Amino acid sequence: MSLDPRKKPARPGGKRPVQGGGGHVARKRFGQNFLVDHGVIDEIVRAIAPRPGESLVEIGPGLGALTNPVVERSERLTVVELDRDLAARLRKRSELNVIESDVLKVDFAQLATDAGQKLRIIGNLPYNISSPILFHLLPIADHVVDQHFMLQKEVVDRMVASPGNKDYSRLSVMLQWRYDMENVVAVPPESFDPPPKVDSAVVRMVPLPNPPQVDLAVFEKMVAVAFSQRRKILRHTLGAWITEHGLSTDFDLQRRAEEVPVAEYVALAAMVKPG
Ligand code: SAM
Repeated sequence: MSLDPRKKPARPGGKRPVQGGGGHVARKRFGQNFLVDHGVIDEIVRAIAPRPGESLVEIGPGLGALTNPVVERSERLTVVELDRDLAARLRKRSELNVIESDVLKVDFAQLATDAGQKLRIIGNLPYNISSPILFHLLPIADHVVDQHFMLQKEVVDRMVASPGNKDYSRLSVMLQWRYDMENVVAVPPESFDPPPKVDSAVVRMVPLPNPPQVDLAVFEKMVAVAFSQRRKILRHTLGAWITEHGLSTDFDLQRRAEEVPVAEYVALAAMVKPG
């Protein structure tokens, strides 16, 4: 313990600097849980396999747990960080292009255009806004090679679930329409400082080369309606939507939302003429 009277001792359970974080205290409102387990960090970096010349973008670099080993391999890296103090630290490094911003305001299509190639996007995401980030990136999937994201395990389970599985949900349909997805690394709470209350996992998302054509706004609305009462048969929910859009279809409404394959949802949404 320090004998320096100017230094307050850390309160057990109170705010204390992050392990190896040069005095940084984690900010809960920014979803800050920093990776500190080097075995897990190596496993994630191996799954990403960064290479020089690629246009890599990291969301939420924080104290650099992933940033450092990734930029060692890729030589250049663009990072998007909202925390002003962390962004200021990162700006001191010439190999990083630092965008100090809310990721939900970043134009990733423009980043890809500026880079002259598709992006590889990575990040240990702030869990409080992980779904909004996934939906922010969905319309620009054409500009992406792949995405590797750390998320709550429960969210990854929903993303990759098949029809009939209890985790098959709105998120499964909305993302499986556009990406091939795989759970690649399991990460326990003790790999972070401070540890989150939930298990985590890294998902790899690769945009499908020829996704079926559908109006994203129509599709999103329709899937939300279908899953609004997932225990009931679809006659009560999607039935009304089909009538409202004047569609003539033999879509089986005696099923529940969790039983319908993604392709059938896409085909139904594609029947709506762009208005
Ligand atoms: N990558 C680091 C690691 O693995 O240790 C930090 C991950 S921490 C879970 C999430 C990071 O995202 C933090 O650095 C946080 O400041 C940043 N962040 C939170 N909200 C953000 C937002 N809206 N836009 C950009 N970055 C954000």
